[in-house]
Amino acid sequence: PLVSDKHARIIIIGGGGTMGSSTALHLARRGYTNIQVLDVWESPSNDSAGNDINKIAGADSIGLFGGVSDEAWEAWVTDPIFRPYAHNVGKLDLTVGSNDRAAHLNKKYEKLRGLGRTDVDWMDSADAIKRKAPHLEQADITGWQGLWCANGGWVAARQALSAVAVECRRLGVKCASGESGTFRTLVLDSSGRCTGVEVADGTIWEGDLIVLAAGAWSPVLVDLEGQCESKAWIYAHIQLTPEESQAWKGIPTMYNDLYGFFMEPQPGTGLLKLCNEFPGYTHMALARPFPLQKDIRMSVPRSHTRHPTDTIPDESREDIKQLIDKCLPHLRGRPLINQGMCWCTDTEDANWLLCEHPKLPGLVLATGDSGHTFKMLPVVGSEVADLIEDKLSDTKRHLWRWRPGAGDPNGTGEGGPRPKDLSDVEGWRSETP
Ligand code: FAD
Repeated sequence: PLVSDKHARIIIIGGGGTMGSSTALHLARRGYTNIQVLDVWESPSNDSAGNDINKIAGADSIGLFGGVSDEAWEAWVTDPIFRPYAHNVGKLDLTVGSNDRAAHLNKKYEKLRGLGRTDVDWMDSADAIKRKAPHLEQADITGWQGLWCANGGWVAARQALSAVAVECRRLGVKCASGESGTFRTLVLDSSGRCTGVEVADGTIWEGDLIVLAAGAWSPVLVDLEGQCESKAWIYAHIQLTPEESQAWKGIPTMYNDLYGFFMEPQPGTGLLKLCNEFPGYTHMALARPFPLQKDIRMSVPRSHTRHPTDTIPDESREDIKQLIDKCLPHLRGRPLINQGMCWCTDTEDANWLLCEHPKLPGLVLATGDSGHTFKMLPVVGSEVADLIEDKLSDTKRHLWRWRPGAGDPNGTGEGGPRPKDLSDVEGWRSETP
């Protein structure tokens, strides 16, 4: 084990975000008594990629993350902390034409069927899709096909993060935010072991074990030797009328790898979130991750909270309009509101980086979310706790090991073109004239 007992002082950097708050929850549930969360913002952190009205989740991502994904949806619908935020409306994972992705989805369908799963179906035509999703009646989706999964849909992300934070506090987790929660540097003893975190106001938080779960900021704070590359993804919303919102209550979640995704409008507000699908944008700048002695050029997230007038690149707006044109033509021309960029960090193989830093003993890395980790909120922290307690299987240990040298040359974390840099696209930096 990485700590001697349950009274060890464990500090979680980024504990107001997805992986960090899940880690705090699971450690507290296992009886750890001395957990200190540090974050720039109080949970749910304004900078967390999970601070969003909704995220896709479901029981169809078999085998992902060493099989952990199989347990995630189960936890969403059974764990009392998460259950209120899971919307089991069904989920469509679609593609256009007979490409590699269609083959991949079909293989997944066959595999799930082979496991005796009756909640999945293969959608081989636009008509089949429209039978599951009548709200796509007017959609121009000829040639689309893909996987239907009845167990899944979406989760109310921000509310779930808040619920985790409340439960953590109830279980005795302590939290510091603002200047006293903002990581500045690590403190090492004479043997090179991490013994604490110095934060922006100069406070040193001493710990027996430090967990770095700072999402897209992780590689900027601590040198991860190019294993994680942070990128922005895009969202915008349409305000539906109460009547429209009511009519779309319970619609299944729709994802298409070319056009993007959307799900049920947010109950209460009628906000319909729309995301395009693309390899993400980098934001190259100079930074000096600990313990480097000079600046390096890397992709550095640009916090939407600190740059609230940032909008989205023109080309992303066009992509989102294309999604509307294709799938929701009756909403064409509606204003796109609450546009923004949110930041994740990709590994080359889209698996987490979840291990002790080999050069900084006492520092556990819980990052490399690769853009698909919100659905894992109920379970990811249990894996971090297993790592700390030396209970991870060899398979998982291998999957999430320290693996420098490759970085993320393919951009998306799962192959595909190199991402563009924000400096090469127009329209997003509305605060500059
Ligand atoms: P975060 O949740 O971002 O947490 C990082 C934390 O670190 C934040 O709280 C931040 O404040 C803190 N931090 C930063 N700097 C410091 C510092 N100096 N000191 C202290 N703390 C610091 N996933 C899904 O599963 N399903 C989806 O449908 C889905 N859709 C998405 C749509 C968009 C537009 C985006 C951008 C992402 C989406 N994701 C989705 C991905 C998912 O949101 C992320 O994988 C996940 O939230 C990342 O979790 P994390 O804990 O690594 O980072």
